[in-house]
Amino acid sequence: MADRLKPIVLVSTPWPLYSRPSIQLGALKAYLKSKFPKLQIKALHLYLKVAERIGYKLYHEISERTWPAESIYAALLFPKQLNEIKKVFYREAKNNTGLRKTDFDALTARIKEVSDNMIKAIDWGKFGLVGFSICLCQLTSSLYFIRKIKKSFPNLRIVTGGSVFAGDTIYQLLETFSEIDYVVSSEGELPVAGLIRYLMKSDGNSKTPSIPGLVSRNGSNIIGDVSFNQINDITSLPPPDYDDYFDLLKTFRPDKTFFPTLCAEISRGCWWKSITKSGEQKGCAFCNLNLQWSGYRKKRAKQVASEIDYLTKKHKTLSIAFMDNLLPLRESEEIFLRLHNLGKDLRMFAEIRATTSYEVLKAMRLAGVEEVQIGIEALSTRLLKKFNKGTTCIQNLEVMKHCEELGIADISNLILCFPGSDITDVKETLRAIDFAFPFHPLRVVNFWLGLGSPVWDNRHASGLTAVFNHPNYAALFPPDVFQSISFMIQSFRMDRVYQKKLWQPVKKKVKAWKKSYAELHSGLSYSPILSFRDGGDFLIIRQKRPGADPLTHRVNGIYRDIYLFCRTNRSLKRIIANFPQIGEDRIIKFLKMMRSKRLIYEENNRYLSLAVRPLEKEEK
Ligand code: SF4
Repeated sequence: MADRLKPIVLVSTPWPLYSRPSIQLGALKAYLKSKFPKLQIKALHLYLKVAERIGYKLYHEISERTWPAESIYAALLFPKQLNEIKKVFYREAKNNTGLRKTDFDALTARIKEVSDNMIKAIDWGKFGLVGFSICLCQLTSSLYFIRKIKKSFPNLRIVTGGSVFAGDTIYQLLETFSEIDYVVSSEGELPVAGLIRYLMKSDGNSKTPSIPGLVSRNGSNIIGDVSFNQINDITSLPPPDYDDYFDLLKTFRPDKTFFPTLCAEISRGCWWKSITKSGEQKGCAFCNLNLQWSGYRKKRAKQVASEIDYLTKKHKTLSIAFMDNLLPLRESEEIFLRLHNLGKDLRMFAEIRATTSYEVLKAMRLAGVEEVQIGIEALSTRLLKKFNKGTTCIQNLEVMKHCEELGIADISNLILCFPGSDITDVKETLRAIDFAFPFHPLRVVNFWLGLGSPVWDNRHASGLTAVFNHPNYAALFPPDVFQSISFMIQSFRMDRVYQKKLWQPVKKKVKAWKKSYAELHSGLSYSPILSFRDGGDFLIIRQKRPGADPLTHRVNGIYRDIYLFCRTNRSLKRIIANFPQIGEDRIIKFLKMMRSKRLIYEENNRYLSLAVRPLEKEEK
C-alpha cells in the first residue's frame, strides 16, 4: 500500500528560534513513522539553513519580532506593497539598533537568494505530499515557499497546519491561496495520517473523503469541518524525531555549529482553560493559545524522564525547553525529581502558573530548570480578576520570591492597557511593585488582541466597539487578501489613548525597578536584595537599597517564627490560630510594622514575608 505514495516532506520555514529543532515537525514525523513504517518521511528545517546563511545574530534579532519577521517575506510575496511593508519593518524594529540600521532592500534580496537556492536544490517532484507547519512569524515565509514550489510543481499536494489557523480562518485561507490543498484544523497527527491513508489508496484525484480535523479543496469546493481530531492519550506518542535537524547541523562548517536546545512536551492544552460543571468557561481572557486543542492531556512522569534521557543521549546536548502552555499540576514534582535522578546536568526552561508550589519549584531547580515564564501578567488582584487568571497578586509575589530564592530566572510579563483596566488597577499595581522590588523585574508588554481569545469572543462585553485585522496586515498583504482573512493579531477601537496615559506611571516604575535591580546585583559577589539569616531564635534581615547602605533588622523569638510561617502566604486567622501564646493585637501590630518596612506584603488579610533565604542556607 505504501508504494502508492511517494515520500512525504514536512517543512518549517523562518522564523522559529534557529537553535531548536521544530517540535511540530519532530512529533509529527515520529508519529507518522510509527504508523507508516515503510513510508519515507523527511523533516526540512529550512529556517535553520536560512539562519546559517544570513548569520545567527541577524536571524535571532528578526525572529524575536513578529512584524519585522513577517515583513521580509511579505516584501518578496507582494513587491507592489514594498513601501508600506518597509514602513512596518522600520516602525516595528525601532527599538533594536541592529535591525533599525539594516538595509531592508539588501536584506530581502539576500533572503530571496538564499530561499530560492534552497527551493531549487530540492527535487520537490519526488514527494507525494508536502506539509507546512505554520506558527507565529511563519505565515508570509510559508506562503512564499508554497507559492514558489507550487509554481514549479503544480500537481504537488500541499497541506498546512499550525497555531495560526483556527475556525473560519481555515476556510478563508483555502479560498484565498489556491496553492494550498488541505488545512489541518487541530493537531496534526490524526488528520495527516488520515490524509496519507487516503492518498495511498487513491491517485489523489478523487474527491477527498471527510477526514475529521482536515479541510480540503475539492475542485472549486472547500469541504470538511474544523472539528477537533486529536489523540486522546498522548502517552502513546513516541519521542519526537529530530534526526533531520541534527543531520543538517552536521553539514555546517565547525564555526557555524552549536549545541541546540531540545524541545520537549509533557502535556498538550491548558488545564486552566476548561468548562466547569456549571458550564462556565474558564481560561485567561486574553489567551488564544490552545485553539487547536480540546482539553488537557499529559504524559506520565516516567515517560517524560525516559524521553529526555533518550533525546539527550542521542543528540549529546543538555538544554531542554518544555513547550507546554502549562505544566501538569499534580505530576510536576515527580517529573522533575525523576529528571534530577537521571544524574545529568540539564539546563531547562518551562512555563508555569503562579500557583506552582515551592516544593515543585525546588524539584525543578534541582533537576536543572534555570529559567521560567510564570503566568504573572498583573500585580493587581482586581486586574487579575478581569483577566480571569484565577490568581491573586500575593500569589504572584510569592512565586516571584520563590524563584528569586532558588536562583531561577523569571522572564514573566506584566500586561498593560488591557481593555477596561482603570486607575484603581494602576494604583494597586504601583503599590505592589514597591514590594516586588527585591525580585526579578517583569517585562512590560502592551495588551494585544488575539483572534479567538475570550476578550475577542466577548468583544462587546469587553467594551471593544470595533474589532478588525491589525492594520499592519493591510501593509503586508494586498487589499483583497487583507479583507478576506481574519488574521491572528487583531486590533480594536477603544479608549486607547486613555489606557496609554493611564499605564505610563507603571512603565516608568518598571524602568526604575530594572535599574535598581541591576545596580543592586552588580559587583563580584551575588546576594539577594532582601534576605534573612536564621539564628535559631532570631532572624537577621538584610535589605539592600539603591544608592544607600543596606538596612538590617533583627526579629526575635516568636516574631521570628511568625515571619518564617509567612514564607508562604497565610491568612491572619491562620497566623493567630498558629500562635495562640501572643494576642491578636500584638500579631497585627507586628505584621503592620513589617509591612511598613516592606518586609511583609499584605493583601486581603493574607500575609507574605518577602525576605529570601540564600540557597546554600536553604539546602543545609
Ligand atoms: S495564558 Fe496560560 S493559563 Fe491562561 S488560558 Fe492561556 S495557556 Fe492557559
